[in-house]
Amino acid sequence: MKYLNMFFDGQWTDSKDYKQRDILNPANGEVIAKASEGTAEDAKKAITAARKAFDAGDWPDMAPAERSAFLYRVAAEIDSHHDELTRLETLDNGKTLAEAGYDVSDAADCFRYYAGLIRKPEGQAYDAPDDIQTMVVHEPIGVCGLIVPWNFPLLMSVWKIAPALAAGNTVILKPSEVTPVTAVKLFEIFEAAGMPKGTVNLVLGSGATAGNELAESHHVDKISFTGGTKTGRTIMKAAAGNLKKISLELGGKSPNIVFADADLDTAVDHALYGIFFGAGQVCSSGSRILVEDSIHDQFVERFAERAKNIKVGPGDDTQSEMGPLVSEAHMNNVLDYIAAGKDEGARLVCGGNRIETGAFKNGYFVEPTAFTGTTEDMTIVQEEIFGPVAVFQTFSDEKDAVRLANNTNYGLAGSVFTSDSAKALRVIKKVRAGITWVNTYHTTYNDSPWGGYKQSGIGRSLGTYGLEEYQEVKQINISQQVERSGWFSE
Ligand code: NAD
Repeated sequence: MKYLNMFFDGQWTDSKDYKQRDILNPANGEVIAKASEGTAEDAKKAITAARKAFDAGDWPDMAPAERSAFLYRVAAEIDSHHDELTRLETLDNGKTLAEAGYDVSDAADCFRYYAGLIRKPEGQAYDAPDDIQTMVVHEPIGVCGLIVPWNFPLLMSVWKIAPALAAGNTVILKPSEVTPVTAVKLFEIFEAAGMPKGTVNLVLGSGATAGNELAESHHVDKISFTGGTKTGRTIMKAAAGNLKKISLELGGKSPNIVFADADLDTAVDHALYGIFFGAGQVCSSGSRILVEDSIHDQFVERFAERAKNIKVGPGDDTQSEMGPLVSEAHMNNVLDYIAAGKDEGARLVCGGNRIETGAFKNGYFVEPTAFTGTTEDMTIVQEEIFGPVAVFQTFSDEKDAVRLANNTNYGLAGSVFTSDSAKALRVIKKVRAGITWVNTYHTTYNDSPWGGYKQSGIGRSLGTYGLEEYQEVKQINISQQVERSGWFSE
């Protein structure tokens, strides 16, 4: 049994003083750890530590090359704990070892990316009129509250922590109360890498208590949140008190558009990957598959055949291709959506059930599921299900495809499959979403900006844009002639 503690001001708290939350393995419902249940008071302590560290200036004033060296050390530590982090992520979140391993490698790469980027000369200098030399410089924002969800517990934490630290901020991370295990390990890594006291702080506990304190506190200068759109709205209101800077990475209901001239096998294969990777618990999942009507029946038949063959099983079984859902509560939400699809008259083409026989009995497994015969107003077409549930829609031509694709409050991701490259470009440019693909799905790199249009969020993670989210921009105007303004008469 592992006891998970919090980390403020360079010190681990003792979990025995806390109410504890059971952390469960989604593959079998067994308790794998007990986590200290942090409170608003704990969040305040973490904020005080981060504030003190920022105001002392050691980290923000450190030369970028020195901060970079810390980040490279963290990346190396992540690499040397790769297998342990992978195993812990699978145990806690349920995802397969292959998925978790990828997340861990990507997390190390993210630290390396920002360790490199922060050494690149930034800013501008130019000659303004009146003998003024102008410089534009970037500075850290201050204390950053970072709130992350349970679907990529380690990776979402790193997407925020790495650029925030590179830019010279001090941080407080609040992982999801459902999946805190790898966040705790990451903070052990920070300790091993010798991060200065108070620079990185970890608070555990629920969103309504610890998370809300980060969003509301006037001592926090920036809040960066990844999670549901509804929670994003609550956080935005809470953050309004001191008008803190805000970045939001929210939900999606992304269209995957397949034209009749696409290579059918490839399109089916990517459609399966688009929705069933991570058991559909991926914000950018291709959860709406828009198929040109002339190939609909053939496409759906091939999709369903292959979906039935996906090997669902515990993440730590190397034969498993799709793991369980993260929790019983989340599984029940997904099953409720499946019931709503049936009630509203959509036609089930595969799956639709919980898997609870034999070894699966106490796990939270749901079959790869798909509906067709949908209409645009159906709940399963409009709402983010965040599980292994695809909905098919059909379209008649390019214009219709674009209209359907954009008929959603979300705007996170989207893709187009076609063999006509001019059409691919025309259509993808019309899709109102921040992360898009042509003839592929899900590929993304730390170098490129990640984020959504419309109600999928505000701001971007990753790439150079991801660094700017954690920086203030300042103009400095330097007079090259020391002389009076001459504005007022003597
Ligand atoms: P969630 O919104 O329930 O919780 C996310 C985090 O916010 C958790 O740490 C939670 O404790 C905290 N939280 C909840 N209420 C809060 C409050 N009032 N104040 C402060 N913090 C609060 O989301 P979830 O169920 O953990 O994750 C699933 C959602 O995340 C999906 O909607 C998914 O699309 C989204 N997501 C988006 C991206 C992206 O990059 N756009 C990436 C991953 C997940």
